Amino acid sequence: MYNFSTSLLDVKGIGEKTFLGLEQKGISTVQDLLLSLPLHYLDRSQIGQIKDLTDEKEITFIGEVTTTSNFFRRPRSIQSATVKDETGRIKLMWFNNKFILKKLQKGQSFLISGKLNKKGTLVHPQVEDLVADSIHTGRIVPVYSGKYGIQIGKLRRVIKGILDDLEVNQATDLSQFFDNIQELKNILKYLHFPETKDQVVQGKERLALEELLVLIQTSNRIKKEWSELFNQGNIVKLNISEKQLLPQSIPFTLTAAQLRSTRKIITDLSQSKPMNRLLIGDVGSGKTVVAGVAAYHLIKRGYSVALVAPTKILASQHFDTLRSLFPDIDINLLTVGSKQELDKPALYIGTHGVVNRLDKIKPALVIYDEQHRFGVAHRSASLELDLKPHILTMTATPIPRSLMLTIFSHLELSVIDEMPKGRKPVETYLVGKEKRASSYQWIEKLLNEGEKKQVILVCPFIEPSENESFDGVANVTDKYDEISKVFKNKAKVAKLHGRMKKKEQEEITDQLFAGKIDVLVTTPIVEVGVDLPEAAIIVIENAERFGLASLHQLRGRVGRRGQQGYCLLFSESKTQTTRDRLKVFCEEKNGMKLAEFDLQNRGAGDIFGMSQSGLDNLKYANWANIELISSARTIYNELDTNKWEPLLAIKSQKKENLPLAN
Ligand code: ADP
Ligand code: MG
Repeated sequence: MYNFSTSLLDVKGIGEKTFLGLEQKGISTVQDLLLSLPLHYLDRSQIGQIKDLTDEKEITFIGEVTTTSNFFRRPRSIQSATVKDETGRIKLMWFNNKFILKKLQKGQSFLISGKLNKKGTLVHPQVEDLVADSIHTGRIVPVYSGKYGIQIGKLRRVIKGILDDLEVNQATDLSQFFDNIQELKNILKYLHFPETKDQVVQGKERLALEELLVLIQTSNRIKKEWSELFNQGNIVKLNISEKQLLPQSIPFTLTAAQLRSTRKIITDLSQSKPMNRLLIGDVGSGKTVVAGVAAYHLIKRGYSVALVAPTKILASQHFDTLRSLFPDIDINLLTVGSKQELDKPALYIGTHGVVNRLDKIKPALVIYDEQHRFGVAHRSASLELDLKPHILTMTATPIPRSLMLTIFSHLELSVIDEMPKGRKPVETYLVGKEKRASSYQWIEKLLNEGEKKQVILVCPFIEPSENESFDGVANVTDKYDEISKVFKNKAKVAKLHGRMKKKEQEEITDQLFAGKIDVLVTTPIVEVGVDLPEAAIIVIENAERFGLASLHQLRGRVGRRGQQGYCLLFSESKTQTTRDRLKVFCEEKNGMKLAEFDLQNRGAGDIFGMSQSGLDNLKYANWANIELISSARTIYNELDTNKWEPLLAIKSQKKENLPLAN
């Protein structure tokens, strides 16, 4: 009998070497392995006949062995067999696989899957005994990532073995609490050995549900803890008059929305309960100055403030911006190793270097920029401090009301829903295949005229995907090669992504800010608020793969200095709904409206796809699946949480330095 916590070392078929390989990938228990879902599935459930074989699509048929042979053609041995059914005969062939002939006894029938090669032979077909419960053929077959270092057939057998002998802890199994919820064990079978495609969808929805339940639970817990925190915060009496609200040093007039949010925050800071507020505003709407005003007043009164950015680039940008907006407060940029004094009242800006030292900084206020990079769990870490700081989280991700009520119910909300005056909307175009070459020429022309401009080119993936259903999805590695050729001797092209060495990432970033790079090929990392003043053009490959909110964030990266920005969406999708979506995006410039549009028009269908690149930190669920979110809330309300043990308890994030990109 296995259960979720059984070590994989104790699982039949897994030896020590295999175990160590898996452990390196963070997979050491039965639960870890079962939750490592197949990359995709092959549908071998339809049984065809020999006459149906083609060189295009793999099919499965039942064949009877008529002859076999084994011969050598150096450097390898070759095994071959002929099988027949009532529609014909076909030759099967293997290299260096002498065991196969032991299995293929003359006169016996097998389930065989494969497709023809150019010579009309089946090379290395899957062959399986004709039993009702086959693993590799005659059914929908899971395909796992090669990164586990286990041969796929073996992995299938191991997982099948586990599922046949698995005992699920009742407290983990939601079916114990609800009649209409499927047993977890079945769900896992659906995900690994589905009988129909519907079962895969059902399985994924269930994991998404599990994930949402944990988020709701965490949110409720934080809300409760927070409500008990009266008089435990840094009790600050600010008493700021309207006249004192904004320091003279701010060189522009705040928008009405900025003013409203600033007042609200200043009021919160004077309460005897710590603030936990989310500040939402489109990219470029000016959240930083709002947070800065709050920091300013606290520091003027002798408190410290911490600002946590998701990346080093952003931290140093905030440092520069805030120093110029608020020249008369002490502002420090902290790196992980820096040995600065932390006890003077100041604004401390950094990434994990700040998070790790919150106990020394003892801030009255912690500001998190771009909250989606940090899990809920992560942020509540600051609760462990003796004095509870106020918390302000800034994000450009529009979070619809339903989500706000369900999953972020522990947060108060301020929205900046207008842009500073004088911003030019980014001109956005949907570009088809036939216009690709001429767009490159157009970009080249723009680069050569007028003021200095930079181009950001975004690809969904870093490398070609091993998952064949992502064939044709642009990746940084290949695109960089292509673009380097296109712009050879015309522009300096560079690439940046999270799998590059940190040092390389830093070098590229420095060159980028020094204006030495004209075209940057990258992943959606730029989404996270990087302020490249000279970026004027953003090109997004496979635009159909991104949610509109993500696209909008990406688009917000250009034209930040007030120059005209351009956004080119490359998409070869022929689906009408996709094209319509992207066309809406070209016209609509309001982030919240775009997010709502997506919510109404996408939803459950997305669950089968990849998670939206970059935007979320959910593994299975999708923020856009409103229906699931509302049913998660209903289920959570009815769930006896004392008896329930969440399957997907949130693992706390490692406190290591965040990479620049991901
Ligand atoms: P985001 O909300 O994306 O974080 P920022 O805070 O970085 O936006 O602001 C974007 C730019 O707009 C900054 O250069 C900032 O100084 C400027 N800015 C902010 N508010 C105003 C305003 N009311 N008028 C003019 N410029 C502003
Ligand atoms: Mg920002």
